[in-house]
Amino acid sequence: MNQGILPTVNILGIPFSLYTTKETVSYWKLLIQSGGSEHIITANPEAVMMALTDERLYKIFQRAAQITPDGIGIVWASKYYGRSISERVTGADTTPLLLKEAEQEGWSVFILGASPESNQKALDNLKIQYPNLRLAGHHGYFGDQLPLILEQIRTFRPHILLVGLGMPKQELFIAEYQEQLQVPLMIGIGGCIDIWAGTVKRAPRLFQNLRAEWFYRLVSQPSRWRRQLVLPQFAWKVLRDTRFGKRTRWPEDTSRS
Ligand code: UDP
Repeated sequence: MNQGILPTVNILGIPFSLYTTKETVSYWKLLIQSGGSEHIITANPEAVMMALTDERLYKIFQRAAQITPDGIGIVWASKYYGRSISERVTGADTTPLLLKEAEQEGWSVFILGASPESNQKALDNLKIQYPNLRLAGHHGYFGDQLPLILEQIRTFRPHILLVGLGMPKQELFIAEYQEQLQVPLMIGIGGCIDIWAGTVKRAPRLFQNLRAEWFYRLVSQPSRWRRQLVLPQFAWKVLRDTRFGKRTRWPEDTSRS
C-alpha cells in the first residue's frame, strides 16, 4: 500500500488520487520498480456508489495503491472537498502511455477480459502499435477455465496485468488473486479492451473536451442508462457530506440518501 505518499482527496470515504494522467503513469513506473504487487482502481461515481453498498468492494478500495478519478463527477466532487482534482485520469488515457513505457523498459503485459474476438483483435492491434512489447491475453468469459487462465498468467509472469471485466468483477478478481499471482501492477480497465479492438468507440474529442463523455456513452450504449441513475444520488451525497455536514460513513447510512 502506497497511499501514504500519494496525495489524495477523500470523497465519500474513498481516497482519490490528485495525480494527473502523466503523474499517474510515472507513479506506476515507480510501483513496478519497487517490486511489490499493487492494485490500481479507475473509478467513476457509479463505482463509488457500488463501493458504498458493498462492504467487500469498499475494503478492496481502501487497500488499493491508487484510485484514479475516472469520471467528471469525481473531478466535480473534489472541489466540494477543498482539494481540486485537475483532470480525469482514465484507463483509456493512461494505458497507451503505460504500454509505451512497458515497451521501452522491456516489461511484459497480460490483458484479461472482453469477448474472445475482442480480446484477440485488441492483442493484434496493440502488437502493431507496440511491436516490441511482450504481450499476451485471454478473454473474460472463462467459466470453469479459470484455473488454466491463472496458470497461463503465472507462466507468462507479466509485470502488468490489465483486467477488463467491468466493475466490480475486475476489482474482485484482482483482490482474490493478487496474492497468488504476484504481478507488480494490476489495473482494472473496464471497457478499454473493446476500444483497442475497435468494437466500441471512445467519445469524439468534442464530447471529451466538453466533459460530456458520459453523455456520449449513454446515447451510444443506451443499456447503460440504468447504471447512470445513481449519478444524482452521488451528487446529493456529496452535497450532503460537504454542505450539510452529514458525513457518509460506510455502512451505517448507505440506505439513506
Ligand atoms: N466482461 C468480461 N467478462 C465478464 C463480464 C464483462 O470480460 O464476465 C467485459 C465486457 O466484455 C467488456 C468489459 O468487461 O469488455 C466491461 O466493459 P464496461 O465498459 O461495461 O466496463 P465498466 O464501465 O463496467 O468499467
